[in-house]
Order: sequence, then structure tokens, then C-alpha cells
Amino acid sequence: MIMAKLKAKIVVLLVLTFLAYTPVTTATDEIYPKLLDMPWDHSPITVYIEEENIPPHYSPTYRAQIDASLEYWEAGGNGHLNYVPQFQEVDRTDADITIVWVENLETVAGAPEGVAGYCIYQQNGDRYTHASIILEVGNYQGYSWQQYGDTNMQEVAKHELGHALGLAHSTDKRDIMYPTYEARENLNPLLLRSTLPYLIIALVIGLAILGYLGIGWRRSRCKRKELEEEVFGEWKE
Ligand SMILES: [Zn+2]
Repeated sequence: MIMAKLKAKIVVLLVLTFLAYTPVTTATDEIYPKLLDMPWDHSPITVYIEEENIPPHYSPTYRAQIDASLEYWEAGGNGHLNYVPQFQEVDRTDADITIVWVENLETVAGAPEGVAGYCIYQQNGDRYTHASIILEVGNYQGYSWQQYGDTNMQEVAKHELGHALGLAHSTDKRDIMYPTYEARENLNPLLLRSTLPYLIIALVIGLAILGYLGIGWRRSRCKRKELEEEVFGEWKE
């Protein structure tokens, strides 16, 4: 009876570990990594693009890069959405997706070096309630300020919009969702990847505890056997 319980514990632990492991392994396999399959429960998805509170090195040509990025996803994007997004630009800051600019993410938002943009989303169940995209307009190359060109801006905007549409990071370097331009995001797959070593450590500790309990139980069983042999003269299973 106790043995059966112990076995059940081990099975549960292994299943949990397997489940925790699955998203990481599938992320590199045939299933495209997603944050959500269908993040918006309505269409069109409203978008607010900030044009008034802009940083000193903002370029008016960036606006066209955002339009091109929105059109890119409306036309199918990288082919990994299982829905066709439709966007509507609105003047309200309470839009589904807001796109704002900062001079430099490292200095303004405390992001690590090399981060050009990020997408923060609020989620309720399996839907987003809001996604906020923050793009920096340039970066320091040594001591000199380097403003981003339009091509760079469009790549980053497409990538961040991909997150706002439910896609996670791709492992394919040719894919727009490959994390070339930014490293820090509020993304579950990244979080999982960084917590995986801890999960493995937890598993090892868990197995060690179970092993210890198992040995302890076997020891007490032996003691009882000896005791019962003394009392009853023979061992009865
Ligand atoms: Zn990303």
C-alpha cells in the first residue's frame, strides 16, 4: 500500500517534469512557438501610434515603417498566424495595441544593451487585453549616438507586432520572430528557458528526497520484520 503510494508520487513527479519540459522541446521542433493562438477576440484590432510625444532623435519616416509592418501582418506575415489580422488605427490611447517611442531603452527603461524594442502585454485567460510596444529610435555605438535607419526600425516593428499577435520567438534565424533585435521581454518561453535549470535541480532534489524516504521506509520495514519475528516467531507478509 505504502509502496503503491510511493510509486504514484514518482509517476506524478515525472509527468510534471515532462509537462514542464514539453514547451521547450516543441519550441525547437515542428510546432511554431506561440504565446497565444488567438490573442484578440475581435476584429479589427485597434492600434494607437504615438506621434506627439516623440523623442529628439525620432524620424518622421518611422511612421511609414509602422504602416508597412501592419500591412506585412495583414498580408500573412511570416505565415505562422492561424488567423488574418485586420488593423484599424485609432486616436485613442486605450487602443488594443499602443506603439510608443523612446530615445534609448537602456537609459529610459533600464533595458539591457542590444534591446531595440519590446512588447509588454496584459492577458486575461487566453486573450490579450492590451499590448504595448516600445521602440527606441537609436543607440550608443561607443560614445556616439546612432539613429536607427528605416530598415532596422521596420524589422523591429514587425517583430514586436508579431508578439502582439501571439507569436513567440522562432529558432529559425531567417524568421522575423528570431530574437535578433531584443533580448528582454515579458515572454513566457524565455522565462521557461531561464527557469529550466532550476526545474532540473528541483527534480534531482525531489528524486533524492524520494530515494531517502524509500530507504527510510525499507529500513523501518526491516526493523518491523525483526520485531515481528521476535514477537510472533515468524514473518507474515
Ligand atoms: Zn521578441
